[in-house]
Amino acid sequence: MTARPGVVAYCPLCGEKLVPKCGAVVHWHFAHRTKDCDPWREGESEWHLAWKEKFPPLRREIVVSRGGVKHIADVRLDSGYVLEFQHSTISFDDVMARNDFWGKVLWVFDARGVVESGRFAMTPESNYMKFRWKLPRKTIVPVIEKTDRRDVRVLLDFGDGRLFEIRNIWKGPKRTYGWGYFQPMSLFDNLR
Ligand SMILES: [Zn+2]
Repeated sequence: MTARPGVVAYCPLCGEKLVPKCGAVVHWHFAHRTKDCDPWREGESEWHLAWKEKFPPLRREIVVSRGGVKHIADVRLDSGYVLEFQHSTISFDDVMARNDFWGKVLWVFDARGVVESGRFAMTPESNYMKFRWKLPRKTIVPVIEKTDRRDVRVLLDFGDGRLFEIRNIWKGPKRTYGWGYFQPMSLFDNLR
């Protein structure tokens, strides 16, 4: 449902009546009057909201229930993949807990500015890109190192319309290294 002034909406998880936030600057959205009932939900940054809006309303705000526990997925695709848009820092344990709960997960990390700043340098190989990453986002390295699952995937949003999927990553003495490739937005439609 699209937030408009005067529109009534209820939280699909706790049933609380939500407040439409329709500012001049922020994307229009619904929010809890006080604190979000789902501790897994990230604050609604512009980046986060803009990502959600790329997907049809039917795929957004999906309640997922597992073993008596419920969480709201920002976006859940037909393929069953849950999209986690991560702007703020998240602990390794939280990432692992979400991977277990959602099953299939696509992590999209906010990596705006890393290429321009020179922190993320890519070298093209035949059909992939090698990279060197100075000061990488802390959780990404252990998440990829310790997740040997094909249904947990990690993407970086460079903020210039390009999405980069990290396929492997490792820490060197000074830098972090790895490889991956660019993915089109149609990736989300083509997942199985
Ligand atoms: Zn709620």
